Amino acid sequence: MTELLYLAAAVLFIFGLKQLSGPRTARRGNVLAAGGMLLAVVVTLVDAAIVTWGTIIAGLATGTVIGAVLAARIQMTAMPQLVAAFNGFGGAASALVALAELERFDAVFAEETGVTVALSLLIGTVTFSGSFVAFAKLQGLVPGRPLLFPGAQVINATLGAGAVALGTWAVLADAAPAYWSIVAVAFVLGILGVTPIGGADMPVVISLLNSLSGVAAAMAGFVIGNSALIIGGALVGAAGFILTVLMGQAMNRSLANVLFSGFGTEGGPAVATGDKPVNRATPEDVAIAVGYASRVIIVPGYGLAVAQAQHAARDLANALEARGVTVEYAIHPVAGRMPGHMNVLLAEADVSYDLLLDLDQSNPRFPQTDVALIVGANDVVNPSARDDTTSPIYGMPILEVDRARNVVVVKRSLSPGFAGIDNPLFYLENTMMLFADAKAALESVLGALGDV
Ligand code: NDP
Repeated sequence: MTELLYLAAAVLFIFGLKQLSGPRTARRGNVLAAGGMLLAVVVTLVDAAIVTWGTIIAGLATGTVIGAVLAARIQMTAMPQLVAAFNGFGGAASALVALAELERFDAVFAEETGVTVALSLLIGTVTFSGSFVAFAKLQGLVPGRPLLFPGAQVINATLGAGAVALGTWAVLADAAPAYWSIVAVAFVLGILGVTPIGGADMPVVISLLNSLSGVAAAMAGFVIGNSALIIGGALVGAAGFILTVLMGQAMNRSLANVLFSGFGTEGGPAVATGDKPVNRATPEDVAIAVGYASRVIIVPGYGLAVAQAQHAARDLANALEARGVTVEYAIHPVAGRMPGHMNVLLAEADVSYDLLLDLDQSNPRFPQTDVALIVGANDVVNPSARDDTTSPIYGMPILEVDRARNVVVVKRSLSPGFAGIDNPLFYLENTMMLFADAKAALESVLGALGDV
């Protein structure tokens, strides 16, 4: 019966994960996977008969209240931190399971169990400490910039090799102190591994740590012989890794470059823009451009999220549609600071999924577009990624907004985006710059639209 119910939980995980791959089905997928997890937790506790029903219900209620309050109160811009904290707890839970087994059997394991205990401790603890450094960077508790220190890579490599040596010793000699030492080494490794990575690369790191928390859970599943934990952990491990790779591809950067290069400037130093002239626009100019267009594509970016301008964007789009203008949204896979950032924000503002275009759908449409309205996006529309082989982001696929008839860029200044580089788009003849906070700017354009 237990195994059958675990199988049912695994099926729910898999269907849930599948449905998470599209915005239309994602909510249902989340509920399915959460249902699978609830089933797995209850079955495990009842089967092991280690706790009473009262304890199970009290535990579930406490967890539900904490989770519900966190989820309800969290700002969308703080979502990466929340995920980082969840991953950290996941890693810690797996390491604690292994530690409990270590105490129970006093470090005397069959060799293969010893290996999985050592791996649970290593991966679980690295995930725990690394995730909380990521959390602290994103929350602004420690500086977000890459903190590079001399010899960092040598120290980290030595710690990694030390952990492997300790693991070998622990397993071969049934040595409890060696297992405990793995925890200490892994804790430091997690901290030193994440510290040199810039705050703006944290979403990629979090995705990788998410994958590691899954691997740690799968290892813990082997330790205690729990098939639901093995399957759940393997799914998280694989899904997190695929997401990490996809994010790297969308930025045209290797995982090694993200982890070891200290890339990113978060806010960025002012770039030398020279005295190149730009076309400054007023909200009225923009209202005329979009109000008399037949097709407008809105390109949201990180600045839209910061300004919380999604509702203003939707209101402007509604007003334009009422005038007969076709309005769509082009979403770059790494627009914003986490995967799906823009989709979630626009969904919050009730923008229909049918209007969201991905990279492949958007680019062929720009030449037939009257106005590409860029709201707080920068790197994802930078033509030098396509044209300038010396650019640090050369090769990153971009939204080719410069092929539209007119381009309007809404941002506060000529400051660079995350990559810290200038954007030739701003100086093109058919580009208008509306320098303002995204939300205020879109509201002014909407106001001015009434008069055109
Ligand atoms: P960018 O970081 O390139 O640019 C954002 C722009 O928003 C800035 O130039 C800034 O200009 C503007 N901005 C900031 N605040 C406001 C505001 N209140 N109102 C109006 N504008 C504002 O963002 P993109 O979305 O174009 O690109 C995302 C970048 O993040 C890419 O380089 C990507 O590689 C990186 N990244 C994305 C990840 C993901 O998963 N999505 C993960 C890791 C990295 P100004 O200061 O002048 O207003």
